[in-house]
Amino acid sequence: MALIVQKFGGTSVGSTEKIKAVARRVLGYQQQGNQMVIVLSAMSGETDRLTDFAQDIQKIPNRREMDMLLSTGEQVTIALFAMAVKEAGSDAVSLLGDQVAIRTDDMHTKARIKSIDTAEIKKNLDAGKIVTIAGFQGVTEKGDITTLGRGGSDTTAVALAAALKADACEIFTDVEGVYTTDPNICVKARKIDCISYDEMLELASLGAKVLDIRSVGLAKRYRVPLHVRSTFTENEGTWVIEEDKIMESMLVSGVTYNKNEARITIKHVPDQPGIAAKIFLPISDAGILVDMIIQNTSDSHLTDMTFTVMRSDYARAMEILKNVAREIGAKSVHGDQDIAKISIVGVGMRNHSGIASTMFQILANEGINMEMVSTSEIKVSCVVAEKYTELAVRALHDAFVLDKENMPIEEEF
Ligand code: ASP
Ligand code: MG
Repeated sequence: MALIVQKFGGTSVGSTEKIKAVARRVLGYQQQGNQMVIVLSAMSGETDRLTDFAQDIQKIPNRREMDMLLSTGEQVTIALFAMAVKEAGSDAVSLLGDQVAIRTDDMHTKARIKSIDTAEIKKNLDAGKIVTIAGFQGVTEKGDITTLGRGGSDTTAVALAAALKADACEIFTDVEGVYTTDPNICVKARKIDCISYDEMLELASLGAKVLDIRSVGLAKRYRVPLHVRSTFTENEGTWVIEEDKIMESMLVSGVTYNKNEARITIKHVPDQPGIAAKIFLPISDAGILVDMIIQNTSDSHLTDMTFTVMRSDYARAMEILKNVAREIGAKSVHGDQDIAKISIVGVGMRNHSGIASTMFQILANEGINMEMVSTSEIKVSCVVAEKYTELAVRALHDAFVLDKENMPIEEEF
């Protein structure tokens, strides 16, 4: 008998018909002899609807009350789901975060889970019930309701799976799994069967939106096998598991792109200690995140500094930097919003040279100029002009043969 935690997202429980379908499906798994813990999100659109209400009344809503409000969406779906299970002839119990209890810190609207009491869940499972738990919410030591931040139900599910030492955590969503790239821009995109936590973390942070990134970090830490799959088919989705359990490593597992960044260059910056801090401190003080940073070596005691920020922060960053440039005696500040960051990700890169140069050659063959490059152990990212995004993604997907399954890393190019 296995203990399985399953999470169904908003689109999967978006109507009473859909909730009934989820109940039937979960009952099927229970009848196969499994103990089932079901985490649900609010109906699709509901959390946005509640947020709009709040903003009609308070421009910046009080955070404690916001949690009180937003947590109601999940209360609705778990209650209806439990009814649907009962109606189908089995038994279920719905539990809110504080009934479990899922304890969090008191950072309202972005709380972090500190501990989970599994006693109530286990008692109900042992009584043969399906246990359904509200995603996205918890309770502070004082007894105040908290929420975990938008998309937080994935984290609830993984945290419960870790606490219960579940055999698997399955995230049901409206896509078939994790793809080698965005199927909307590359028809050859292939669903990945197995991927490591580290690769998933890179893919998630680079814009593959299937899984909330915090939940992947948690799954990695507690070695929870994660299965991302579709609510609307029976097909196997993508397993996110430990790297050494994956039989065949790919050289490159996926190609991603991010059009949400902008590039900023400060020209002729004095090349001396303390200057980088002078540039980046006011940026971070303004709450602006910086991603890639490049500084060249200089012969003339002057250098250029280039980096990227979120496009939504671009105007603010430019304003701050024009002042900074004046203060430190830099020549000028330039920026470009029409850029895209294209990345290839794969654990195979760890012990394989030449992946970056292959990427550069592929882009060169298409006549695409690279403006910036950065690498990590399992990733190479290039900034290019935004208009080349689709071309670059397709060319890289083709060249690394990502449409073929299980190309072992020994393959020659
Ligand atoms: N209902 C919450 C949201 O829309 C939590 C979730 O869906 O994971 O963000
Ligand atoms: Mg969601």
